[in-house]
Amino acid sequence: MTTTEATLTERRSFRDTPAPPDAAPLDVRGVTAAYRDQPVLWDVSFTVPPGQLVGIVGPNGAGKTTLLKIVMGLMRPAAGQALIYGQPFAQARRWVGYVPQRGSVDWDFPTDALDVVQMGRYGRLGWFRRPGAEERRRALACLEQLGIAHLAGRQISQLSGGQQQRVFLARALAQDARLYLMDEPFAGVDFKTEQAILALLRELRAAGRTVIVVHHDLETVGDYFDRVVLLNGRLVAEGPVGEVFTRENVAAAYGGSVAFLSDEGMWGVVVADMDGAARSERAAANGG
Ligand code: ADP
Repeated sequence: MTTTEATLTERRSFRDTPAPPDAAPLDVRGVTAAYRDQPVLWDVSFTVPPGQLVGIVGPNGAGKTTLLKIVMGLMRPAAGQALIYGQPFAQARRWVGYVPQRGSVDWDFPTDALDVVQMGRYGRLGWFRRPGAEERRRALACLEQLGIAHLAGRQISQLSGGQQQRVFLARALAQDARLYLMDEPFAGVDFKTEQAILALLRELRAAGRTVIVVHHDLETVGDYFDRVVLLNGRLVAEGPVGEVFTRENVAAAYGGSVAFLSDEGMWGVVVADMDGAARSERAAANGG
């Protein structure tokens, strides 16, 4: 049994959360979304089966974060719906663990790492119970699993980017969710943290959890994920990574900003950002 399985199994003995219904962890049905009158997602449909690591991949502005917002009930779609274990988010939230983008959080908020992890469990305690010694011990075990128990009492503003991301992952682990939604957990972390996060995701999968990750590094998609959802406003392709993460589909999602490096049957991709692509076009037009 892995450490994560042990942590999750131990927690299962006191947990009062009922098992989710026997429906797909995530079912996105015909979702169209707009900011004011500007559409950003068109008729997106896909289903995520249980126990998989799923990457949501697409260029900047493809609507990945918007899709997560809709899944989590933070934004109403103009059409369609997203169901978690067959329910809208409001009824399914106890089965969901969320890891926001590190940059979207106010790290100056005066609290320490242990508190952040414990906050992940407040939802389970009910209104009048404060976390006690048992909760504290469990939160510490989650920090330990991410290799940062020694930082439990450290103010979060004083943590490095990689350490902050590990705190978020420890918090998600403490939530003991069935479905995890993570917005760019690998962004801006060092190699060791990236490996630690990947190991955790794989352990969660081994424990039967479903993990959906917004991801921007195309080079690691094939290695990290079982399934991929390729998005660019519309759904370009979706399915097992070996079938769907093809040159044609990636080029369709990224348009002209993709270059391929082929090497004896292996292939990788290099993506210029939108500004870079625009600059090189202008340079060509100017004859330089
Ligand atoms: P991604 O996560 O794939 O980079 P987003 O979902 O953040 O894409 O954004 C999709 C599109 O919606 C982009 O064109 C972005 O500029 C626009 N957008 C995102 N958030 C807002 C907002 N709050 N108001 C207006 N437009 C937005």
